[in-house]
Amino acid sequence: MSLHVTVLPSGRTFLCHPDETLLAAAIRQGVGLPYACKDGACGSCKCRRLDGSVVMDSYQPRALSEAEAAEGQILTCRARPSTDVVLESRQVTETGGFPIKKMPTRVLSLERRSHDVMVINMQLPANDTLGYHAGQFVEFILRDGSRRSYSMANAPHVQPEPGKPSIQLHVRHMPGGKFTDHVFGGMKEKEILRIEGPYGSFFLREDSAAPLIFLASGTGFAPLKAIIEHMQFKGITRPAVLYWGGRRPGDLYMSDWVEQKCAEMPHLRFVPVVSDALPEDGWTGRTGFVHQAVLDDHPDLSGHQVYACGAPIVVESAQREFTARAGLLADEFYADAFTSERDKHMA
Ligand SMILES: Cc1cc2nc3c(=O)[nH]c(=O)nc-3n(C[C@H](O)[C@H](O)[C@H](O)COP(=O)(O)OP(=O)(O)OC[C@H]3O[C@@H](n4cnc5c(N)ncnc54)[C@H](O)[C@@H]3O)c2cc1C
Repeated sequence: MSLHVTVLPSGRTFLCHPDETLLAAAIRQGVGLPYACKDGACGSCKCRRLDGSVVMDSYQPRALSEAEAAEGQILTCRARPSTDVVLESRQVTETGGFPIKKMPTRVLSLERRSHDVMVINMQLPANDTLGYHAGQFVEFILRDGSRRSYSMANAPHVQPEPGKPSIQLHVRHMPGGKFTDHVFGGMKEKEILRIEGPYGSFFLREDSAAPLIFLASGTGFAPLKAIIEHMQFKGITRPAVLYWGGRRPGDLYMSDWVEQKCAEMPHLRFVPVVSDALPEDGWTGRTGFVHQAVLDDHPDLSGHQVYACGAPIVVESAQREFTARAGLLADEFYADAFTSERDKHMA
């Protein structure tokens, strides 16, 4: 038996089996609910349950606080319906998504851009296509069946390796991590890896003219790079400021690329922010936390749209403080928090 799920205010409906999550059913049927980690760790899929009841699988309290749960908010990635359900989610997208596909990919090149960032170009099969929105991610399916998510750093129209259908990924090493230890240890050109995608709701909402704040920490730059390429390609001239934060200047591993884009796109500005520069870095730019730099420059964020990506702590701080202190509408904050196994197992 399938249960009916209605999403307000759009009125979109879909069916959900009692043993699947609301999010899995929505993705299966091409309904664009917001989400990122799909694992109860990031909170991107949080929305209000207006009617009906759900059973919640376990999740991180950081993703959904007790107070939020008490006032009827749920995580669609952890909620299985026990009756018909009505949800409120203003970020649901109207357009159908791209089909989610599994395909083999081959490592074309590996380029170390900083002490802990590898830029990987992956070749896609010649006889298949991967349609996606700039900003979305794919999952690697590892040999043991576990999955790791990485955002495409190129817009779909850009081929990182000219003449070859390919995607670019920016991977930060997390020492002790199952996948990134391999990337920085044994990964070689020509290695074959299975991917599935596209996934995610982190892409530019083009029905708005609101000025844009792009907030990246570390490799959170990757999907924003794709979005900037997409804006240039489509001639989108909404004012946009990219705040990119790292501990040391070298963490902003493609700042020359951003400077070049700013020269080509007069409506785009770049504010690099470094939190732990050493004297030998000779850093003379902005310092401190990257989300604080946004607040310093924009004490009033009402009327803006924010796209934030990268370390979960940065994304969470930005969401909390931009909405509480600078008047940003909660629905105008779009985010992909790069959660990992550590975030899923934190007490
Ligand atoms: C939507 C999304 C998009 C993403 N995009 C990107 C991207 O573009 N670029 C990028 O660099 N990353 C991205 N990530 C993060 C990425 O998916 C991986 O989580 C990250 O690369 C770590 O993978 P790993 O297998 O190396 O580490 P994991 O095996 O996940 O381990 C991560 C860390 O946790 C520790 N750990 C492992 N298991 C446990 C445990 N049980 N308890 C406590 N600690 C533990 C490990 O020692 C390690 O330090 C994204 C994540 C999401 C959710």
